[in-house]
Amino acid sequence: MGRCCAIIDPICADHDNPSHPECNARLVNACSGIPRDVALLAPEPALREDVERVHDPRYLSWLEQRCAATATLGWLDSDTYITRRSFDVALHAAGAAIAAVERSIGGEHCFAFVRPPGHHAEFDRAMGFCLINNVAVAAKKVLENVDTIAIVDWDAHHGNGTQNSFYGTDRVLYCSVHQEHFFPYSGTVDEVGAGAGKGYTINAPLQAGSTIADYYHVFSEIFVPAIERFSPDVMIVSAGQDILFDDPIGRMRIRPVDFEPLTRMLVRAAGVPLALVLEGGYSPSHGAAVQHIFAGLTSDGTVNAPGIPSERTQKIVSWLKSEHRLP
Ligand SMILES: [Zn+2]
Repeated sequence: MGRCCAIIDPICADHDNPSHPECNARLVNACSGIPRDVALLAPEPALREDVERVHDPRYLSWLEQRCAATATLGWLDSDTYITRRSFDVALHAAGAAIAAVERSIGGEHCFAFVRPPGHHAEFDRAMGFCLINNVAVAAKKVLENVDTIAIVDWDAHHGNGTQNSFYGTDRVLYCSVHQEHFFPYSGTVDEVGAGAGKGYTINAPLQAGSTIADYYHVFSEIFVPAIERFSPDVMIVSAGQDILFDDPIGRMRIRPVDFEPLTRMLVRAAGVPLALVLEGGYSPSHGAAVQHIFAGLTSDGTVNAPGIPSERTQKIVSWLKSEHRLP
């Protein structure tokens, strides 16, 4: 059983486009699943030096100016919009991720409900609804005080920006399970890290339509043993719930209740409190999923094998097991 808190920052509403899937209404829906007894905190924004550990200072200045010059709504690419306030909002989102990780180090699970999301944002560019890479900023900051961090990214999309931030280091284990042949079209099994980081990036691309049986197989056979072997000081989850069955973007078939065993498996594998940071998730059942994530954090329970994974998933898992020399 673990103590829990959540981070919500009302400034997120200033980065909004109601006709876009990544709108503030989806955050309100996600937050509807936070249990009433969970303490809510409001964070400080990230400092410029914090975000410059991950992003090119020239990109940050450009982004700041682009936002300041935006009257109501602007576009950085065909997916990614900004408002006049988006740069400030993004600094607050990164600050919330930092606060979530610091809370987890302090001994409680913490879920930062932030927008815009972060895991596609690269060193020198915005991408896929993301402006600043919240998880990467938080991880790089706390790496000044801890040795190792594991990041599990269960969003339907591969977290290219996060992977690239830590591709060459053995201090961050990045594990992503995502929909194959899908935006941003990276995250193949043979992307395993480079140099000192070789073996510290694990990608499990799954077929569209995958269910909890597939996710359970990846978690139990790959992520859990990899995290146990790594024994991280800090455990971060890039929590994108766009793998839900009713998501309008992702095409996976995870039910809200399935998030409970997935969360519980990570809590047990890591042996430290979890810091969760919101990524995607655009469906009506997002609030219910959040409720089950908190149940996985705060209550003990058995985790039962939920059925037989697809042959394709079994093949991916056996390839990863051998490549990453997992038991
Ligand atoms: Zn996503």
